[in-house]
Amino acid sequence: MKLLVIGSGGREHALVWKLAQSPHARRVWCAPGNAGIGAERVASTGAPVECVAIGAEDLPRLLAFAQEQKPDLTVVGPDNPLALGIVDLFQQHGLRIWGPNQRAAQFESSKAFAQSFMARYGIPTARAETFTEFGPASRFAAVLGGRCAVKADGLALGKGVLVCRDMAQADEAIETMLVKQAFGAAGAKIVIQELLEGTEISLHAFADGQTARLCPTSQDHKRAWDGDRGPNTGGMGTYSPTPFLNDAELVAAGRKIINPWLRGCAAEGIDYRGIIYPGVMLTREGPKVLEFNARFGDPETQVYVTRLETDLLELLDACVSGSLARLEPRWSPLVSVCVVMASGGYPGSYPKGRPITGLAEVARLPRTKVFHAGTALAGDQIVTQGGRVLGVTAWAADLAQARAAAYAAVEQIKFDGAQYRRDIALKGLR
Ligand code: AMP
Repeated sequence: MKLLVIGSGGREHALVWKLAQSPHARRVWCAPGNAGIGAERVASTGAPVECVAIGAEDLPRLLAFAQEQKPDLTVVGPDNPLALGIVDLFQQHGLRIWGPNQRAAQFESSKAFAQSFMARYGIPTARAETFTEFGPASRFAAVLGGRCAVKADGLALGKGVLVCRDMAQADEAIETMLVKQAFGAAGAKIVIQELLEGTEISLHAFADGQTARLCPTSQDHKRAWDGDRGPNTGGMGTYSPTPFLNDAELVAAGRKIINPWLRGCAAEGIDYRGIIYPGVMLTREGPKVLEFNARFGDPETQVYVTRLETDLLELLDACVSGSLARLEPRWSPLVSVCVVMASGGYPGSYPKGRPITGLAEVARLPRTKVFHAGTALAGDQIVTQGGRVLGVTAWAADLAQARAAAYAAVEQIKFDGAQYRRDIALKGLR
């Protein structure tokens, strides 16, 4: 099969790495890709993965490329092209593509849609309401004692959630979105949720419109600095599985969350094919959904692909063809840990073009893989190109060993200003 993967981050490198190992993969393109993706090879042919200089949101050029090269399957990594309707567009032109269509992608592109859907189908979530005006929004925040999460309805580069602990913060957050319109149209409508306390984990499930297959649990670390302090980021590290849900509890969580979600999709004619990723708070009253994402989490993908024993291409293909009921994914019992190395200053402004050393040495380590998130080639030299630069991933028999192996690799990799958390996965060891 010929494959086109869309995106340029650690998630896409992880997907390409795993897809390129499939015996069915003959040729793999990635648009736009990065330096790490371009260094991968297709296992069955030995040919390099080919990066194509087309942005992930440039739908007309992606379509033209696909019409010319005729990939057998296109795999969409990020949320924006999904929300822009890339799946609908490719399908209209007879091209097979993995990911939810625009209507289905609303689980992520509209928090108001997701929240009202959860209410309709009894999916456990935070108490919440939707607003477009300051007065009623502020009154609801007051009912919650100011302890709430104020969320922009639309996509806001992962920055559209303001967590508030008192009325002054809540009013300021509501004003930022509804009055000052700091998030533009994405924040013209807001969802206010009660603040939930507990441990936050990530659930993922493959879906083919009828059947869903839960992945093991994982946990991200969203804040920039150790001890969950500092600004929110796209994710500074992950591990899988987490000790916070055992197998039986995971099945029970799936029954409470994924089953009613599937029923709701069927009832409303939402044909969801791809991956659904609920962010979940484990509260004293059980798991509650904070939000839905319509794509793989990044860096969760990096710990998932290193544990997945089933051919990822067969799995994605089954989502598209509606045959997931016949395929039970197999996962390795090993534990995987991913530590993100970021540019100094991230998630604020940061320099680019800093040379990275140590990658060749780390490539020789067993059960270790460095996924590139924001890198480029300057001549022969791999240099930094993004906020998150690398996802250094290692897997081993237990969490302590996997963590030690990931950090041993991190210490061999150097670039000017490198910033990373020292406490990834420590929560899982306590
Ligand atoms: P979201 O993008 O909706 O997952 O929100 C981003 C982050 O804000 C989450 O990962 C949580 O850490 C936090 N958050 C969101 N909603 C809530 C809530 N209702 N209670 C507590 N924390 C929340």
